[in-house]
Amino acid sequence: MNKKISLSSPHMGGSEFLFLKNAFDSNWIAPLGPHVDGFEKDLATYLGNDVHVAALSSGTASLHLALIILGVKAGDEVLCQTLTFSASANPILYQGATPIFVDSEETSWNMSPEFLEIAIKDRIELGKKPKAIIVVHLYGMPAQMDKIMEISRRYEIPVIEDAAEALGSTYQGQKLGTFGDMAILSFNGNKIITTSGGGALISKNEDWIIKSRFLATQARDIAPYYQHSQVGYNYRMSNICASIGRGQMEVLPLRVYQRRKNFTHYKRLLANIPNITFHEEPSEEYFSNHWLSAILLKDGDDRITTDVLRLALAKDNIEARPIWKPMHLQPIFEQYPFYGDGTSDRLFGIGLCLPSGSNLTEYEIRMVITKIKNCFTVSTVQ
Ligand SMILES: *Cc1c(COP(=O)(O)O)cnc(C)c1O
Repeated sequence: MNKKISLSSPHMGGSEFLFLKNAFDSNWIAPLGPHVDGFEKDLATYLGNDVHVAALSSGTASLHLALIILGVKAGDEVLCQTLTFSASANPILYQGATPIFVDSEETSWNMSPEFLEIAIKDRIELGKKPKAIIVVHLYGMPAQMDKIMEISRRYEIPVIEDAAEALGSTYQGQKLGTFGDMAILSFNGNKIITTSGGGALISKNEDWIIKSRFLATQARDIAPYYQHSQVGYNYRMSNICASIGRGQMEVLPLRVYQRRKNFTHYKRLLANIPNITFHEEPSEEYFSNHWLSAILLKDGDDRITTDVLRLALAKDNIEARPIWKPMHLQPIFEQYPFYGDGTSDRLFGIGLCLPSGSNLTEYEIRMVITKIKNCFTVSTVQ
């Protein structure tokens, strides 16, 4: 059996260990410290656009704090892209609020501006204006941020960008994570860079970032003893995790290049299979980090479904994964309102993510491609 080819695995650059050793040597083994501050600065510098950054324990925790800071409370409604990982929507339930799911558009696979506006109008008509919009940049592909921000301004509903998968991507030349009123990043083990586990909250509003650090460290009032006037959380990033993050930031541009190269390889070498199309940038305005390379199989081909392809790859120890199952189809979320025309349902039925790690070798990529090609050749012969 060949070595497992993973969907996306951690890829250290080299200096992570030096930062880590420094954390040990200085005994900053705590959820605060110089590397936490340093990592926040590294991220703010990388993202530009005058953003401020709070390094937190996960992307999910970051989203939770974003909702709290925007004042989302029990009974409120929050608009959320349906085609995403459940972590985008779970924090809405943490707050006792109601998720309102919005379908995707075909080109980017992300939130449809059209259905977003339909949903907003309908919710307002029903007597409840949503409190926030959570838009996701799936697999690193930018959502149509110009249109979504225009709608956000017109209806005065703030946007939280879930850029967990999209560090390094740009839309119209601007880094993702700098469009929304707030944005979140994730540094989980499978993301484009990792701190083993971690996240960040981003905003141009410095007060919000200061507030998030306060809430993330148990909301301690300024007093000589422990005094608390609001509910606090233990959501800060540790200095150990941040030390890894600082090393990872040095190789982020390289990681973007490597992930994009994977995608180009797949696209070039699978081009002659007419049943496959790609999750590609719709125009020059989109620049995806291609965190995961995703493909679509032709609708209605019963011989080579995503399951057939996934299982055939699994036989050779190659990990592929169906694209996210939309939230409005999930047992935990299906009771909530949904606005759309079934685009995300359709994408879910025919979409597959291929091995996409920045540490894949040329040989491994070619092996994946050969296996995929074999599936289609065998099926044509039969
Ligand atoms: C990974 C991910 C998250 C959650 O991040 P964690 O750091 O794992 O909590 C949120 N949204 C999306 C789209 C993700 O891919």
